[in-house]
Parts: sequence; structure tokens; C-alpha cells
Amino acid sequence: MELTSNGLKDFFKEVAGMVETEKDYLCELDRKLGDGDHGVTMSIGWQAIHDKLTNELVDTEDCGKISVTIGKTFLNAVGSSVGPLYATGFMRGAKIAKNKTVLNEKDLAAYWVAFANGVKERGQAEVGDKTMVDTLAPFAETLKTCFDDTQDFETAFSTAVNAAEAGMNSTKDMISKKGRSSRLADRSIGVQDPGATSAYFILSTFLKVIKS
Ligand code: ADP
Ligand code: MG
Ligand code: MG
Repeated sequence: MELTSNGLKDFFKEVAGMVETEKDYLCELDRKLGDGDHGVTMSIGWQAIHDKLTNELVDTEDCGKISVTIGKTFLNAVGSSVGPLYATGFMRGAKIAKNKTVLNEKDLAAYWVAFANGVKERGQAEVGDKTMVDTLAPFAETLKTCFDDTQDFETAFSTAVNAAEAGMNSTKDMISKKGRSSRLADRSIGVQDPGATSAYFILSTFLKVIKS
């Protein structure tokens, strides 16, 4: 398979739609752990991205340019902790996609590994801290290993999304050690992390797009 620049733009539009659907749920999780705004901040960021996709980026075919603009737009629109985290992810992915109008399977695997590693480096969270890294780190590790083994991106990505889901679920029993929810200490046990949840939704949206 391969992903064209239009395919990449369609994926980002799908994420914007998904965020609207999941907005209340993401806020509900964040009400129990933080300040209750995660769905709203994601919505603000992805609506701004949707605007760019339907205006400035309409004729852009460079997947790197598209991805860097997505990252910058999200950063500028979002004030909360996830702003720089997702922005870094997409800007790291942009380095892989630079000057490419089509992404092949190898590019796509490298794109998503760079995305996940970028978020982890930017936020300095480790697996077990109850953040989106609990979704993204097992995802990236599985994607890399499985793609190296099979050279089949769709199989590898699908397996990696399962690992992401398990990682997201694992945050429920964790004590938060990073971000706003860390102030709750052991009272943070019992609720799934909102960022781990939105990260899983983004990845499963990509899977949906490549399967359609
Ligand atoms: P804020 O806490 O500023 O209101 P959001 O509610 O939008 O931001 O996002 C909260 C999410 O951000 C958390 O659920 C967590 O997954 C993620 N997060 C916070 N700090 C970090 C970090 N240092 N590294 C990775 N993810 C983080
Ligand atoms: Mg919040
Ligand atoms: Mg906030």
C-alpha cells in the first residue's frame, strides 16, 4: 500500500471528526483526573487543523509540508500540555515525509515511529507515568518490530494498534506521575488517562483510513 498527500489530508480530516465525536468522553476522563478540558483542547486544535486543510493546504502535495503545518497549527491553537506534545509528534513525522508526495510502507512505519518518539522526548514521560506515552511507546515498539519482521505495513500497524489499546487500558490502574493529574497521587488510580485515550483514538483512526 501507499498513502498519497490526499490520503494523508483525509486522515487528518477524519481525526478532526473523531475528536468531535469523542470530545465529551475525553472531557469526562479529564474531569476525574485533571481540569476537564482535554476534549475541548483537542477540539480547538483539530478544528484549526481542519480549517487549514480546507484552505491553505488544499493544493499542497508535499506530505512533509502538510505534516509540519498540522503540527504548527495545533501548537498555535492549543494552550494545554498536549499542544507541544502532539505538535512535536507531527513535526518529527514531517522530517520523514519531507519532499514526498506519496508515502510508501517504509515511510509510513518510520513516520509513526518518529511521531511516537517525538512525543516521548518532548514530554519526558516514561511508560508507567499514566500519560499518552503508555499508548504510544508500546505502539512504536510493536510497529517497528512487526514491520521489520513482516515488511507488511498494514499488518504491523494493526498489531501495533492492539498494543496501543492494551497500553491505554493499562493507565487505568496507574498512579499519575506526570502532568496535572500527578497532583492527585494515588487518587488517580481507577481512571483511564485522557491523553492515552486520545492517542489511541488517533492511531485507530489511521488504521480505519488505511483499511477503507
Ligand atoms: P492540561 O493538563 O494542560 O489541561 P490536557 O487536558 O489537554 O492538558 O491533556 C492532558 C494529557 O496530557 C494527560 O492525560 C496526559 O496524557 C498528557 N500529558 C501531560 N503531561 C505529559 C507529559 N509530560 N508527557 C506526555 N504526556 C503528557
Ligand atoms: Mg486538562
Ligand atoms: Mg487544561
